[in-house]
Amino acid sequence: MALDEHLHAPLAEALFEQNTEAILLVEGTSLEILNVNPSAVALLGYSRDQMIRKPLSLLTYPGQERPLQRFIGEAIRLARPRSLSTRLLNANGNPIPCELRLRLLEIEGTPLLLLSLRDLSERIRAMEDIELRNVAIANVTSGVTIADARQPDLPLIYVNQGFQQITGYSAREAVGRSCRFLQGADRSQPDLERLRLALREGSPCVVTIRNYKKTGELFYNELHISPVRNEDGELTHFVGIQLDVTEQVNARESLQRSEARYRQALEREQELNEMRARFISMVSHEFRTPMTAIQASAGLLHRFSERLPPDKLKRHHENISVSLKRMNRLLDDVLFFSRSEANRIEVSLQPVLPEAYFTSVMESIQPIFPGRQIRFESTLPSERPYPLDTHLLDHIFQNLLTNALKYSAPDTTVLCRAREDHADLLFEITDHGIGIPQADQERLFEAFHRAGNVGARQGTGLGLTIALKAIELLGGDLSFSSEENVGSTFIVRLPTQNTTPHHHDNNSDS
Ligand code: ADP
Repeated sequence: MALDEHLHAPLAEALFEQNTEAILLVEGTSLEILNVNPSAVALLGYSRDQMIRKPLSLLTYPGQERPLQRFIGEAIRLARPRSLSTRLLNANGNPIPCELRLRLLEIEGTPLLLLSLRDLSERIRAMEDIELRNVAIANVTSGVTIADARQPDLPLIYVNQGFQQITGYSAREAVGRSCRFLQGADRSQPDLERLRLALREGSPCVVTIRNYKKTGELFYNELHISPVRNEDGELTHFVGIQLDVTEQVNARESLQRSEARYRQALEREQELNEMRARFISMVSHEFRTPMTAIQASAGLLHRFSERLPPDKLKRHHENISVSLKRMNRLLDDVLFFSRSEANRIEVSLQPVLPEAYFTSVMESIQPIFPGRQIRFESTLPSERPYPLDTHLLDHIFQNLLTNALKYSAPDTTVLCRAREDHADLLFEITDHGIGIPQADQERLFEAFHRAGNVGARQGTGLGLTIALKAIELLGGDLSFSSEENVGSTFIVRLPTQNTTPHHHDNNSDS
């Protein structure tokens, strides 16, 4: 007992003086401050002397006096320890949020109040911080999600307002589901692979993936994933930020598309320019040859017509007329070519007797190639007309027959065979000339393309392009087989019933 008594006073003093909580000893009836400990001095900012013998109201915050008095009065009446969250006023006039606990003591008949104060500023500040962050996260327009990394399938445990706005799913619909539910059936995307890998490894990543809203509408989701670990380094959550970048993706794609279109148009324009240049140089060159011939013959006739023997006279006259024919054909081809480039060829079908037609074509070509022959063999009924267009036929057969003669030896014979094959007319033109090298065969129908073995033979490289165009206008097709130094066969197939003549009449060549 003696030891107890001895210890009593110093122990109480130590508990009072060294307590980390601020403690005030207040007289129960006058509410006068009797003693304060160092923690109270530190918390309230007054020195000990400034507080002792002062009324407790020194420390009450304006408007808080009455609740505090009521609290003290009730505590005395009920004779029980009580606590109250309130605000006090420090020496600087600033409020101190605190939890106030009250204990009643009675020493020698005087009621004493032991008030201990717990400073709540820190806790309030922390709560305000959290609240602020919650408000911020809830209100950003980007989607914010949190997924639980410790459960299989990473269920969502939080989605903010932004997520709900972007996806159309409410928090109730989204929380608890695996975070991949937005992908729908669209599972094979390159960025998804990266996302899966990052989730598996618990590493951060940024991906852009195709996702689907509740309405089924596609949107591009730029997803930023950050893993969250606890103090032990264990992966606990994934925080995801979603941005709807559909507009940007669409804008980028449409920009790429229009760039590609622009580039194509530019390339086409360049091709056309090149073609025009080649066209002009080819054609001028081709005109010059017969013109020179005409000039020479005309000059001779002019100067020596009296003195020339009749056969020479005749040769020069023929020379002039053949050269004029050539120029005529060339002009025809050139006009046809430029009109066909602009899709401005009209087809007009008339009844044509093939045999009569070929006779006249051969007669017009033969004189250009004296010494070379064309043999026409036909199994077609000679009196039966076929619906054809003689202008187009001219472009086909003048070119093919001229080629067969031109690319053959001077004493050669070209065979032209005609027959019916099912519902088609077939014309085969066979020569035993220079043939077409394998390497050139693929590009043969390209305008201006000439094979490597043409030598000095004149030509523009337009004939086959024109023949093919005319055949297509008649609804037929053109094929060939050829071997270099052996010969070539060109096969023209035309329908016998040409019910729907092709009519091209749009004058845009864009
Ligand atoms: P070109 O005015 O040069 O004759 P074409 O378009 O009629 O133009 O023919 C293109 C090229 O195809 C010719 O330059 C030639 O190399 C080749 N070719 C066409 N027909 C024959 C043929 N019967 N024999 C050999 N080569 C041919």
